[in-house]
Amino acid sequence: MQVTLPDEKAHVAFGETLGRIFQGRGRLYLHGDLGTGKTTLTRGVLRAYGYQGAVKSPTYTLIEPYEVDGQRVYHLDLYRLGDPEELEFIGGRDVLADDALCVIEWPSRGSGWLPPADVHVTLEVDGDGRRATLESQTQRGAGWLAVLGD
Ligand code: ADP
Ligand code: MG
Repeated sequence: MQVTLPDEKAHVAFGETLGRIFQGRGRLYLHGDLGTGKTTLTRGVLRAYGYQGAVKSPTYTLIEPYEVDGQRVYHLDLYRLGDPEELEFIGGRDVLADDALCVIEWPSRGSGWLPPADVHVTLEVDGDGRRATLESQTQRGAGWLAVLGD
C-alpha cells in the first residue's frame, strides 16, 4: 500500500491516523534515508495520544520513552547502534515486552535481534513531498492496514 504525503502537514496527519489505528500497542518500523520524515511521522503518531510537544530523534540515547495519559510510546532511533546485540544492554528487551507502542527508526541496524514489525513504513522523497510504502509482517498488522485502506 502506498500513500503520497505532499507536505509536512499531511505527513503529521498520516502519522496521527496510524497512531489511532495502533491504539497504543504494537511495533511500527520506519525505513528511509536521513531526512525522509521518520521523526516527523513519529510526531504525528504521538499526537494521536495527545502529545503536542517537540519530538527529536533520540540519536545518542537511542530510546526516548513518552507517557501521555497513561499511554506509553517508545521512540527508538537505531542509526548509531553499533551491533544489534547492543539492544540487550540498552533495555531493548523490556521496551519490546511492555504493553506499549514502539516506533523504531533505522530498524535495519537491529536486524536479527528485533522481532517482526506489525507494520513497516518505507519513506522516500517524491518531488517536494514524500511517498510512504506500507507493509505488514503480522496478522495484527495486516488487520490495521486493512482498516487504513478503508
Ligand atoms: P528523518 O527522521 O527521516 O531523518 P525528519 O522527520 O527529521 O526525517 O524530516 C526531515 C525534514 O523533512 C524536516 O525538515 C521535515 O519538515 C521535512 N518533511 C517531513 N515530511 C515531509 C513531507 N511529507 N513533505 C515535505 N517535507 C517533509
Ligand atoms: Mg529521525
